[in-house]
Amino acid sequence: MSLLSVVVPCYNEEENIEDFYHELLKNESFFKEKEVDLEIIYVDDGSKDATVSEVKKLMNKDERVHMLSFSRNFGKEAAIYAGLRKAKGDYVSLMDVDLQDPPALLPEMFSYIEQGYDSVATRRVDRKGEPPVRSFFARLFYRLMNKISKTEIVDGARDYRLMTRQVVDAILSMTEYNRFTKGIFGWVGYQTKWIEFENIERRKGETKWSFWKLFLYSIDGITAFSTVPLAIASIMGVLFCFVAFLLIVITIVRKLLFGDPTAGWPSLVCIISLVSGVQLFCMGIIGQYLSKTYMEVKKRPIYLIKEDI
Ligand code: UDP
Ligand code: MG
Repeated sequence: MSLLSVVVPCYNEEENIEDFYHELLKNESFFKEKEVDLEIIYVDDGSKDATVSEVKKLMNKDERVHMLSFSRNFGKEAAIYAGLRKAKGDYVSLMDVDLQDPPALLPEMFSYIEQGYDSVATRRVDRKGEPPVRSFFARLFYRLMNKISKTEIVDGARDYRLMTRQVVDAILSMTEYNRFTKGIFGWVGYQTKWIEFENIERRKGETKWSFWKLFLYSIDGITAFSTVPLAIASIMGVLFCFVAFLLIVITIVRKLLFGDPTAGWPSLVCIISLVSGVQLFCMGIIGQYLSKTYMEVKKRPIYLIKEDI
């Protein structure tokens, strides 16, 4: 018998824990036929509601259910990392608990693993039910990201995956503090089969991601997988030096030829504000990388466990 671990990050998801369990177990007979045992690892990301007790209820009924509980909310990326570390399976699947990642796709995904793929990834082909502004910025982010990063990050890719042990170990070998899982998947490589499905709206409860949280997350993603913004800072520096040099020459020539004393302060003020703006912007970029480096250097744990059952 081999083992399939299903890792499920949960943050304030009391209404979804049980629904997810039943939905997942609809695949039970399929995996029995394939001689694959199941284990379900709920990772409670410091929920403030009854998530933990809901999971415990399931654990009393079914010994294949396990739980990791964090001391506070560390974010989905940390929950994924902790879950993957705990998973013992020969195959590991990663899924949201809100049933936006349909467990019914698992048999199809597993068949690709049997065909020899190392990893099966999913992407949604549309963004039905999402606020248009959010979709617009999401698209923009993916376009930008793929321009400035060598790591391929697929638009609409979900974190819903099925992976072999080898891929999981590769992901676990990346112990960085600033974890951008979508990038990490791309970075480790391996033969990946993409399957597509139509967006499904969250079954119960609300999304845990505000626009602002997503915006900060996108910056994390950019700094984690691209250093192009740093290059932009240097290029802008060179560009401005060039423009300044040109202006100096023009001013001197004008003075010598026409004795024209260049008119005073408005132009000066404009130039000073523009250039100091650009300088601050570039310092901000450097600051972003510096702060990420600072956090990495501290080597703080990615998560803290309260309960591991
Ligand atoms: N999640 C988490 N920690 C967080 C935020 C979210 O573990 O800080 C989990 C959440 O419980 C869910 C998954 O990550 O299982 C995806 O979250 P959500 O459905 O809110 O995101 P969306 O689908 O709207 O992108
Ligand atoms: Mg969701």
